[in-house]
Amino acid sequence: KTTFNPITIRKDFPILNRKVNGNPLVYFDNAATSQTPQQVIDVIVDYYSNYNANIHRGVHALSQEATDKYEQARIKIQKHFNAAKPYEIIFTSGTTHSINLVANGFSSILKAGDELIVSAMEHHSNIVPWQMLCERTGAILKVIPMSEEGELLLDEYHKLLSGKTKLVFCNHVSNALGTVNPIKTIIDAAHEVGAAVLIDGAQAAPHIKADVQELDVDFYTVSAHKMCGPTGEGMLYGKEEWLNLLPPYQGGGEMIAEVTFAKTTYADLPHKFEAGTPNICGGIAFGAALDYMNAIGFEGIAAYENELLHYATEQLLTIEGLRIYGTSKSKTSVISFNIEGIHPYDMGSILDKLGIAVRTGHHCAQPIMDFYKIPGTVRASFSFYNTKDEVDVLVAGIKRAKAMLL
Ligand code: PMP
Repeated sequence: KTTFNPITIRKDFPILNRKVNGNPLVYFDNAATSQTPQQVIDVIVDYYSNYNANIHRGVHALSQEATDKYEQARIKIQKHFNAAKPYEIIFTSGTTHSINLVANGFSSILKAGDELIVSAMEHHSNIVPWQMLCERTGAILKVIPMSEEGELLLDEYHKLLSGKTKLVFCNHVSNALGTVNPIKTIIDAAHEVGAAVLIDGAQAAPHIKADVQELDVDFYTVSAHKMCGPTGEGMLYGKEEWLNLLPPYQGGGEMIAEVTFAKTTYADLPHKFEAGTPNICGGIAFGAALDYMNAIGFEGIAAYENELLHYATEQLLTIEGLRIYGTSKSKTSVISFNIEGIHPYDMGSILDKLGIAVRTGHHCAQPIMDFYKIPGTVRASFSFYNTKDEVDVLVAGIKRAKAMLL
């Protein structure tokens, strides 16, 4: 048991006071997007109220202020994930952008017959860019299978690795199942055969503070909107050597050293990968979101969310006909489930009428749904500002929906 106090924390989130369909909002769609605390909203308002200006190229005061705050945010992100250098943090619009940036860069490195390894439990954004890369280069995509419990089969992974393997990519935490994958083992084994590793940290970052140097990971991706920050903002961590090797993703302003019609040379890191005017306010607010979460503390957050996960799992399993997908012991606070005879969409719609926000469908992870031979699941994902009382509301809501639908 922790001394963590969600009731005090909830006061930071104005949206949690609203009603939906006449009922108090119970927000259990945190794995899709987390809510935003007043402290981060204030930073956004302050930016547009007081120092909105384009960065890096202005001599005037506002531009310099905005540039300073933006670069300070980069350093906050660097420190949070323990990157060795600030320029190993590339601002992106989120995980999707980060993965596409790396996949595009590998077009000029891979050749036909090279092998890439993906896990069976990826979000589409960590599958499709690589399939597009394979189409362009003739590289071959292999898949680490998973078990009924929703865990990767590491023996099979080791069998897939060879001198032909150039890249391995896998999520740190599955958005559809909540499984925390053994990424250190995955990274070390890939490095033994000389392959690089990209870890999609979109679902891990709100719960686990990853240390990219300790992990020795080559690339790590994060979306700010899943960790109390704004949408359309995120980061790519890349080891300096890799970022120097990869070509730029987009051409434009900010990313050049010199442009003539004969030849253009590219700017140094991180600007080489940051063409155009970025989401300046988004970057600054991402930094503020990290400050907010770190002030609460990731240990407290993880312990409390784990308590919520276990309570909710226990309570949900009292409902007859309810099956949970993803039963690994190593999970974040995500519960994907179905009730025999009820389509997830119908369950989600009734819960919405009761003010309870859950996600239904394939969660952008169709291969997982194919594995379980289901069209989708209902997914309740908990954050540190949720409570056991809200879990009780969910359980009662499901029982009511079940009585209506069956
Ligand atoms: N990977 C995982 C594991 C995710 O959960 C998500 C978001 N659902 C993404 C990637 C994509 O993130 P974004 O939409 O912020 O680019």
